[in-house]
Amino acid sequence: MDTRSEIIESCRKMNRLGLNQGASGNVSARSGDGFLITPSGLDYDVMTPADIMEMDFQGGFKGKHKPSGEWRIHRDILAERRDVQAVIHAHSLFCTTLSIHGLAIPAVHYMITLLGGDDIPCVPYAPPLSQKLSDRVLPALENRRACLMAHHGVVVIASTLERALKLLSEVENLAAQYWHALQIGTPPVLSSKQMKAVHEIMKDYGGGMAGKV
Ligand SMILES: [Zn+2]
Repeated sequence: MDTRSEIIESCRKMNRLGLNQGASGNVSARSGDGFLITPSGLDYDVMTPADIMEMDFQGGFKGKHKPSGEWRIHRDILAERRDVQAVIHAHSLFCTTLSIHGLAIPAVHYMITLLGGDDIPCVPYAPPLSQKLSDRVLPALENRRACLMAHHGVVVIASTLERALKLLSEVENLAAQYWHALQIGTPPVLSSKQMKAVHEIMKDYGGGMAGKV
């Protein structure tokens, strides 16, 4: 499957799995000297490969539409992080719920190791589509594969689109678990010593899923 078709498949699968609402999410993948990204506001069901936009790292674009309004987040990550091939942004329910309260996800479950660290940070609010938002997201992803954005949603980075979608599913699951645990009271969190051991145990999980971007 070519990258354009793979982007569309990722969007459709994301919505099918309940990981996003409508066309509010956006997906990109590195391609040649730039990247490919979903167009702004187009329904995933009617999207064809020709609708996918081509962008360079200066913000120039080619295609039939406008690129996703959040192109700066995708551009800045793909320009700075040569290890990243794919970026997904979504407004999944539990990630967004926690982000409304500005809550990072702590190590309440060992599976958080798949996202690279001992927590999934939540960056302070910045207006949607702004450079300020992207400027907050990029540093938050250092040594991480996901971060929440206050009053907004989640960003996930990975070495392939398929992996990015799997990680998005894991983050949303962790967000849901944390939210449910919060209903009983403040949940206990795994210590950094316990998490260090988990990182070691999980190094080879899912074909090294925990060990690489
Ligand atoms: Zn958004």
